Amino acid sequence: MLDITPKEIKPRTALRINPAKTCQPIGAMYAALGIHGCLPHSHGSQGCCSYHRMHLTRHFKEPVMASTSSFTEGSSVFGGLANLSQAINTIFTVYNPEVIAVHTTCLSEVIGDDIPNIIAKAVSEGTVPEGKFVFHANTPSFAGSHMTGFSSMVRAMVHYFSEKTGAESGQVNIIPGFVNPADMREIKRIASEMGVPALLFPDTSDVLDTPLTGKYDFYPPGGVTIKQLRTTGDSLRTLALGPFASEAAGAYLDEKCDVPCDILDLPIGIAATDRFVHALKNVAAQDVPASINYDRGRLIDVMNDMHRYTHGLKVAVFGDPDHVTSMVEFLLDLNMKPVHVVTGTPGNRFERRMTEILEGRLPDSNFSANADLFLLHQWIKNEPVDLLIGNTYGKYIARAEDLPFVRFGFPTLDRIGHQFKPHVGYTGALHLLESILNAIMDRQDRDATDETLELVM
Ligand code: SF4
Repeated sequence: MLDITPKEIKPRTALRINPAKTCQPIGAMYAALGIHGCLPHSHGSQGCCSYHRMHLTRHFKEPVMASTSSFTEGSSVFGGLANLSQAINTIFTVYNPEVIAVHTTCLSEVIGDDIPNIIAKAVSEGTVPEGKFVFHANTPSFAGSHMTGFSSMVRAMVHYFSEKTGAESGQVNIIPGFVNPADMREIKRIASEMGVPALLFPDTSDVLDTPLTGKYDFYPPGGVTIKQLRTTGDSLRTLALGPFASEAAGAYLDEKCDVPCDILDLPIGIAATDRFVHALKNVAAQDVPASINYDRGRLIDVMNDMHRYTHGLKVAVFGDPDHVTSMVEFLLDLNMKPVHVVTGTPGNRFERRMTEILEGRLPDSNFSANADLFLLHQWIKNEPVDLLIGNTYGKYIARAEDLPFVRFGFPTLDRIGHQFKPHVGYTGALHLLESILNAIMDRQDRDATDETLELVM
């Protein structure tokens, strides 16, 4: 299908082909689902909302509920005030959420709808019931990506809800970044093992990975409550995991409520997890427990046992900047060579961080933010690799170049496992390593002759 991608790379300034990102409201919708009893609301046309719900549903294999302002031609001309006012009324009457999280779309941003004003009007007119809330984030999709949409919605949680009362809560905020529910559960487990009373926000565990019980919960049991969000301003400090997704909220909480914030890489792979565990250790002021050391030891054992399969292999990686950054560091720790690295999200700090990580280890790698899969494919044609790592959209390049392919990141639409297997922490790194090794071994088996096919690997 991509057989005609040309090897010759020509400069492009105003054209993206197969972008390595998707649109802002998807990230905002996902973040909002991490609040208990929240109904995300898409302020725009129905098509945007359907696409965003569908994309999340296909990745998480769970129903994703959200409402829409259902713009028509009239709203496009006269603005969406009437639609959003009516929507708030209908949502509280029919669906009765605890909170509505409004995010904008391209159309409502171009119109310039004043969302805070519309929300204030709904509150003053009594449309928002006592004890219920409406808040918003601006997420125009002609800028940023789903990562910036996620970031903006988490920052909005701080803006609308965090309070400093002076009461000592003793808790630590953890902003987990744009990771799967299984990752959020694993982050909470690690914090708990480390003896750190953590408040995770947003938290989609038990929201988008609920069991089949025979009863449908429109609002599943998980998610951070508004009451808990209010207490984030009294926390000891914040650990913001993944600068693209979490720094804005962490830094704003510091500015608003004087809660110091550590910005860390997503704890994917061994080195980034070490830094996360170290940060928790500093907060807890106690030694790392044996259970966590054992998790780390098991990972080291497999890295060591299987080193002969990973050593020196060239890898192309693409996806979200927070994920890709940590994955590249992990690949270097496996003595692999991430020679081509792409993210679709714009931002110079990705390139700065990649330079830091690759310096002295693989300084000649190709890497770029705000890039697309077409460029990645061209790089691979010019310098072939042994393995491709990225989301489902990479399967076309994998087929065209006959590459082993490991699914990693959002969206994963054509495989399972990411919903219930964490990728963060030492256990998550073990799962990633398992996927990488199995892909390499499957390829070795496929390419072996009858004489070289090994029974024991
Ligand atoms: S890019 Fe804009 S118009 Fe398209 S789905 Fe996203 S928000 Fe809607």
